[in-house]
Amino acid sequence: MTKNLNWHKVNGRILSMNDKIDSISSSISEYKSMTDATEVELVSPVHIEPGESLFDGTFQNIIYSNDTRILKSRDGENYFNLILENTSDAVIELDSTNTILNVNPACTSVFGYKAEELIEQSIYVLISDNYRDDFKIRSSKNNLSGSDLLMSTTDEIHVFRGKTKLGDIRTFESFFTTVHISSSEHYLVVIRDLTYKNSLRIALEESRNNYEALSETISELIIRIDENFKIIFANYAVKQVLGYDRSEIMNKDFRMLFPVSEFSRYENEFRKYFYVDFKDRNDMGLKKVIEILGKNKNRGISPLEMSFGNSKDIGGRTLTCIIRDITKRKNIERKLKHLAFHDKLTSLGNRELFDSEMKGFFNLLEDNSQLSGALFFLDLDGFKNINDTFGHNAGDELLLITSKRLRQSLRDSDRVYRFGGDEFVILVKNIRGKNEAATIAGNVLNEIRKSYFLKSIPGSPRVNIGVSIGIAIIPDHGKNTEISTRNADLAMYKAKETGKNRFVFFSRDLKVSASERWDMEQGLKLAITNNEMQMFYQPIVNENGVTKAVEALIRWFHPIRGYISPDKYISIAEETGFIITLGNWILARSCRDLKIMNSTDWGKDLYTSINLSARQFEHKDIVENIDNVIKRTGVNPCHIRFELTETSIMSAPERVRGIMVAIKKIYPCIKFVIDDFGTGYSSLSYLSDLPVESLKIDLSFVTKLFKENNQKIVNAILNLASSLDLEVVSEGIENIKQKEYFIQKDCHSLQGFLFSKGLSLDNLKEYITHSK
Ligand code: C2E
Ligand code: CA
Ligand code: CA
Repeated sequence: MTKNLNWHKVNGRILSMNDKIDSISSSISEYKSMTDATEVELVSPVHIEPGESLFDGTFQNIIYSNDTRILKSRDGENYFNLILENTSDAVIELDSTNTILNVNPACTSVFGYKAEELIEQSIYVLISDNYRDDFKIRSSKNNLSGSDLLMSTTDEIHVFRGKTKLGDIRTFESFFTTVHISSSEHYLVVIRDLTYKNSLRIALEESRNNYEALSETISELIIRIDENFKIIFANYAVKQVLGYDRSEIMNKDFRMLFPVSEFSRYENEFRKYFYVDFKDRNDMGLKKVIEILGKNKNRGISPLEMSFGNSKDIGGRTLTCIIRDITKRKNIERKLKHLAFHDKLTSLGNRELFDSEMKGFFNLLEDNSQLSGALFFLDLDGFKNINDTFGHNAGDELLLITSKRLRQSLRDSDRVYRFGGDEFVILVKNIRGKNEAATIAGNVLNEIRKSYFLKSIPGSPRVNIGVSIGIAIIPDHGKNTEISTRNADLAMYKAKETGKNRFVFFSRDLKVSASERWDMEQGLKLAITNNEMQMFYQPIVNENGVTKAVEALIRWFHPIRGYISPDKYISIAEETGFIITLGNWILARSCRDLKIMNSTDWGKDLYTSINLSARQFEHKDIVENIDNVIKRTGVNPCHIRFELTETSIMSAPERVRGIMVAIKKIYPCIKFVIDDFGTGYSSLSYLSDLPVESLKIDLSFVTKLFKENNQKIVNAILNLASSLDLEVVSEGIENIKQKEYFIQKDCHSLQGFLFSKGLSLDNLKEYITHSK
């Protein structure tokens, strides 16, 4: 006899079927054989999509039996009840008024209510307000169509929002089934909490999306390897980082990405990363990142940086490696390092590099007592003038050419540095003696002496500079960097002081002159205000000894040191810039005295030759200063001559010429004299272009007129002057033979100790009136 069972009454009579049972009929027969039930009727086979699991376990059908014996059929256990009790889904039995008749234990864990709190309650306590209607319809639908409707498939699963005892609103899915108990229909609702399932699924999906987005867009290469170094995963960046397609490296040996020797250096370390987690790596002495050379398919060996994730067990231990190409960074690092140790303009080493290489050199010396080196300190002569006259571009160009010339004149093993400005340093690490150092310095002098044609000046005019070189022999002149550098520097100052464009070896007595120099700098500043300076005038006479003009020469009478020669401090005043103050004082004083001379009987026709330093020509206001002084003193400008040395003119010929022209524009009768002619390197074309009236033959040719080739030089200068229609003054005449030589050569302006030294104004008056 077939009966419908009332589950409410006979708890546990619903039997489960497992997924091994293919068809309902076979399930029935199996069931019968299992339970010795005589009649089994399939009341409501609940169809769920194949493979989809709604219950724990894979239910496909539910079968009801009227045989109470089945309760005991499986090892005496209520098998079905067991399932109901253990499923994580809530199972609720309702009557047709939606009143809860029975619940399984999962109801408590899903909704938070105990069974007794729910029984006799409306199902609506578990359903959030705006889902009640929906629920009603469905339940009435069930009511109306009964088991026929429940036979329909996908519609059966109903998603709704439910309410827990604590008031949480959650998403559930449910399905209904109708149970016939006696004549009335009961409903069985199976409810599953989707919140957890959903959040898991969403989290999983999110993490997969994130991972994909990350691994596709990230510029780092992510590679996972197994313990045999087989590549089991690689992201797309492999193309960008190493030039391979993914397919080319997947399942290949990780070692293929590195030069053999490089990999073997790191192999043991790699193995450690497999077993040591991130947090422990520091303690284990493992680096966070390692830098390693890799093999790029296209670019060859490239530096890589690698970090490692924690190793994971995915069918054996695997290690995730994150790999970046650091070629760019390495290049920048190299550039930065180069910048830190090299001069930007010339790319020569800078002081930092010098210090470090000197340290290295002294270490070398400790091991090898035979070795000696030479340190050369170079300071360009006349650089400042060019820089100020033609601008920094021209200055930079000149420095750049200089650095090339220096490099060219030295061996590859010799080191050249630039200390900034126009200071260069050369370190020669192996030198046989002073002579070799002198030869090197001589070569450098010759290189720098050659004319420069600067493209950054329109028309690329030729400019000339010189260089003063100080030399310290190592270790004789210094057993460490500091002392040897200081001594080479001292020697360089000596070279400047003694006339520039030369080299000087360090010697012990230079130390004295260094402190002397300091005294001089300080003393100069006070000299004018303390009235220690005076202007003296040296007569320039004609062949008859008649004084036609005078040269204004400065005299410094130091209260302690006595008379100090201008040769000793003019260059210092030039370097410190004090020459501007001093020059203005000289100008004013000379003009005042000239005015006085010209207002006397003995000196009414006298000219005064005033020396101007090149540095005074760096400032445009020289024109204004001259104008002011002339106006203020009321001197006759036609009696003024300005002397400029050939070297100072040639250091910046265009600019000097411009200023000469500007002065002549205001005072056309002011004359210019090129002083110390024959020592510079002026070209004829320049000379003919300058608004000068006189040449003064350099004193050295005159005082040594009868030695060496000096007469030839003097004759050449005289010929040149006559062809350019320039007057010649011969200065430094100390004897009658010299005087006669010049007179015979038709040179009628003579100056020298033979006639007179420089004289104070009073003494000059005496000299002139006396010689008349
Ligand atoms: P300089 O312009 O060539 O001046 C000529 C120098 O030769 C003077 O030396 C003068 O006393 C010296 N001298 C004249 N005749 C003879 C001679 O027959 N034999 C010898 N051995 N020497 C003779 P001083 O006055 O010591 O001046 C040296 C240098 O100092 C000058 O050379 C000039 O470059 C500079 N100087 C002197 N006074 C001034 C000045 O007022 N302004 C500027 N800017 N420089 C000055
Ligand atoms: Ca002079
Ligand atoms: Ca001179």
